[in-house]
Amino acid sequence: MSILDIVHYGDPILKKKCNPVTDFKKITKIIDDMFDSMYEAEGIGLAANQVGLDMHLFVVDISHTDETDQTHIFINSTIMNKNDDEEYFQEGCLSIPGITLDVLRPKKITLKYQTPDQKWHEKKFDGLLARAIQHEIDHLNGVFIIDRVDHKHRKKYKKDLKSIASIQAKKRVEKKSKEKGFFL
Ligand SMILES: [Zn+2]
Repeated sequence: MSILDIVHYGDPILKKKCNPVTDFKKITKIIDDMFDSMYEAEGIGLAANQVGLDMHLFVVDISHTDETDQTHIFINSTIMNKNDDEEYFQEGCLSIPGITLDVLRPKKITLKYQTPDQKWHEKKFDGLLARAIQHEIDHLNGVFIIDRVDHKHRKKYKKDLKSIASIQAKKRVEKKSKEKGFFL
């Protein structure tokens, strides 16, 4: 088990469209690490690029609710259909600590995705699970909750976002220095 560092707003990997998973050989270990990292951070969902991995993969665990007892793994997923019925719900994000926003999203979606056994599925989701899926797929497309609210709201958080991004930039420099073998 390894706990991976959660990457924060400001890191370029959170702004890019993630690549599809083609090599499933090491996927089990990566998924285990992602669940461990998500639990450590007390999140209910985590996308691969939130731990610095450029892979179209995310995990969700909402087993604390009545909706489901299972954990969920979604690989190479696409939203095939969105219900016109939308609602606001307050969302937080492990990559933007300290900010929660009311985000408008469809209540129900149809998702096509792969599981670690490489099988394809097409299923309908609603409730908190549909909400978490849409939040994580946004991550894999380089979209933050802050991109889902109007300009006025976004402006309010400009300062906070700037400070999160500057801390993240410092972390990246420190990490690079370590990789090169010198410690400052
Ligand atoms: Zn998030």
